[in-house]
Amino acid sequence: MSSQNLQGRVAFVTGGSRSIGAAIAKRLANDGAAVAITYHGSPERAAAVVDAIKVEGGRAAAIRADAGDATAVRAAVTEAVRMFGGIDILVNNAGIALGGPIDEITEADYNRMIAVNVTGVFVATQEAVRHMKSGGRVIHIGSSMVRYAAFPTASLYTLTKGAVAGFNRSLVRDLGPRGITVNTVHPGPTDTDMNPDGGPVSKIVGPGMAIGRYGKPEEIASVVAYLSSPEAAFVTGADIVADGGFTA
Ligand code: NDP
Repeated sequence: MSSQNLQGRVAFVTGGSRSIGAAIAKRLANDGAAVAITYHGSPERAAAVVDAIKVEGGRAAAIRADAGDATAVRAAVTEAVRMFGGIDILVNNAGIALGGPIDEITEADYNRMIAVNVTGVFVATQEAVRHMKSGGRVIHIGSSMVRYAAFPTASLYTLTKGAVAGFNRSLVRDLGPRGITVNTVHPGPTDTDMNPDGGPVSKIVGPGMAIGRYGKPEEIASVVAYLSSPEAAFVTGADIVADGGFTA
């Protein structure tokens, strides 16, 4: 069912070609927003997300932009503004998970993780808020790992998500006076390409799920939809954990 409460709004979702980002793009479009998604390695899947939105009568476009390439991210924001006339909702979803034991993490992996998961978030936010009016929304996708690190080898990943959580907190003070809210959704184990239900991580974290199952991308998208809505105007600076009780 569609509430259409985002009618007339424009959303920019990074990493919208697959998994959680694709679910967010479809949900925001279903709620009435025009949606620009970025992608890097999956052009066909990005096109399929755009097609699925258009078939339902929505407006969408896919823009190739490596989140780890600041110039490409800035150009993608400019392109989305050109196509749809502005940006009202930014969802910083694109993320990768490189890592390993602390003494084996390479400098190349470290640099790539910082580029995609941290610099990509900073640059997309800086560029998007230049176009945002009062009522705007910045929503980061963090991770429940910042609250409870359930297994080893994820220190680099958690470092990047902790940076996003810190950015979220302080940005609230910069953007509050402009009527823009800033929040982070921290998913717990969610069935995606990155962390498939039944995959190696699920063997470790599965038994810790209070509700007895993995999350679905649509269940993260529904939290993002709420934060995007006019009803969430008083919610800013929040870290909303959506994890099936994994870190409870
Ligand atoms: P997936 O790996 O399943 O999908 C990642 C998405 O991000 C794809 O659309 C991919 O697009 C895009 N992406 C990856 N790298 C880049 C890049 N350099 N530039 C642009 N887009 C990129 O991940 P999830 O959906 O599982 O994760 C989404 C977010 O949620 C991430 O930030 C992740 O850290 C976070 N998260 C996930 C959890 C989980 O259990 N699944 C738990 C907690 C947090 P393409 O293929 O086109 O490159």
